[in-house]
Amino acid sequence: MAGADFPEQGFPTAARAALANTQLRRNLGHATATIRRKRAEVVGELPDWEALREAGRAIKQRVLRYLDGYLEELEQNVQRAGGLVHWARDAAECNQIVTEIAHAHDATEVVKIKSLTTDEINLNQALAAAGVNAVETDLAELIVQLGEDRPSHILVPAIHKNRAEIRELFRRTLEVDTSGLSDQPAALADAARRHLRRKFLSARVAVSGANFAVADTGTVCVVESEGNGRMCLTLPEVLVSVMGIEKLVPTWQDMEVFLQLLPRSSTGERMNPYTSFWTGVRPGDGPREFHLILLDNGRTKVLADQIGRQTLHCIRCSACLNVCPVYERTGGHAYGSVYPGPIGAILTPQLIGVERAGTLPYASSLCGACYEVCPVKINIPEVLVHLRARVVERHKATRLLRRPEELSMETLAWIFADRRRYELAQRVGRLGQWPLARSGRIRRLPGALSGWTEGRDAPALPAQTFREWWRQRERDRNRDRNNERENNHEREETRQRTKNDNDSGDVGGKESW
Ligand code: SF4
Repeated sequence: MAGADFPEQGFPTAARAALANTQLRRNLGHATATIRRKRAEVVGELPDWEALREAGRAIKQRVLRYLDGYLEELEQNVQRAGGLVHWARDAAECNQIVTEIAHAHDATEVVKIKSLTTDEINLNQALAAAGVNAVETDLAELIVQLGEDRPSHILVPAIHKNRAEIRELFRRTLEVDTSGLSDQPAALADAARRHLRRKFLSARVAVSGANFAVADTGTVCVVESEGNGRMCLTLPEVLVSVMGIEKLVPTWQDMEVFLQLLPRSSTGERMNPYTSFWTGVRPGDGPREFHLILLDNGRTKVLADQIGRQTLHCIRCSACLNVCPVYERTGGHAYGSVYPGPIGAILTPQLIGVERAGTLPYASSLCGACYEVCPVKINIPEVLVHLRARVVERHKATRLLRRPEELSMETLAWIFADRRRYELAQRVGRLGQWPLARSGRIRRLPGALSGWTEGRDAPALPAQTFREWWRQRERDRNRDRNNERENNHEREETRQRTKNDNDSGDVGGKESW
């Protein structure tokens, strides 16, 4: 993300620190399990869920194929309805546009609706540098902002905080009376509401992101749960919406699909509590000035990649985070990006380049749970493997000497390419593993292979491989069959002999008789 501060420490280092935080793991485990259960219930109610997912995927695929045409159509329709459209190539351009609009209206404070896209470009920091205070109005975002913290979940940015921590934070920072504030959710929400109400009533400029925009009507859509978005979208005189260029849908009818997919996948609800649509400006109703900023910031680069482009289907529902075993244990901060979890592991490297995001495509067990729940069917494991290949290619291109891991992999590829080599390696491995294997597991591999067991253990090689078991089974069956055949043969011979003896006895009997 040009503009965002991506930390130099890689995912493994950050994840190790997060794993040591037991409070964080408890909060995450509880929250993700609750959302998972709710999602499964409401998804199970729809018999056509798979057809909806397929429709969502197909619409997004069409949008990406004809993106240039749809964007121009959207621009024309927003302008026709009285809005202004700006194009921003990167974070700097976008931040500049928002700052100029705030300055043009003498705004020293703007109210904001939770928006990952504005977090991606560090808009709040850019506004602060220009003397404009951006106030987050989503409760969780407000908690993160007041604590000078970073969001750790797409949908629940303060998932890493518990109620007691939030009460202490509110006591220190809210501009309202917080004496006697308890840590009950209703009391915390009430204090935040009193604090924010003043901001809503005094702000002249609001800034939002956009969940969707409909090309053929010029309508922009924001979905939210608290009503703070509705306040921002209707009270201030000026509304600025920052939208990634991929957030389009072609027609109004397409919204039918996404407004079913998104709430069920994100909060486990049948519909979002607040779904706001607006088309340009209307005298006497809502903002008098509307600016739509269409942001690229690396998205056209993603679009150019045949496999990676499906990442742009994402509707930021966060279902993939809630099922990811890696995310559930490390939380969002370890990903070092505003996009955590599986979507972050594929989007961030594509936006900022694999050379900067280095280890992020490896922040996954490739179990495929994210692919199964994604409402727009992004094949996240496929993109992860694709990005890992790019990381490897890059290493190869920039190093003269092979790393031990690369040498190991090349040796393995050579062994796996031939059955006899493979079986010989298994026999040698079985003999060589005895000092390392305990109770069927190898906890630490030596030398160049040690990296493999840094974050996991490995199963010990079994006493018998499948092929050996199969060959043994075939030998046993052949032996049994041969024994059976010999027994049958002997029985037949005995029967024949007895019959012959009887026959000759009969003849003799008649003669003598
Ligand atoms: S990748 Fe799919 S599951 Fe994950 S946030 Fe995006 S749309 Fe949701």
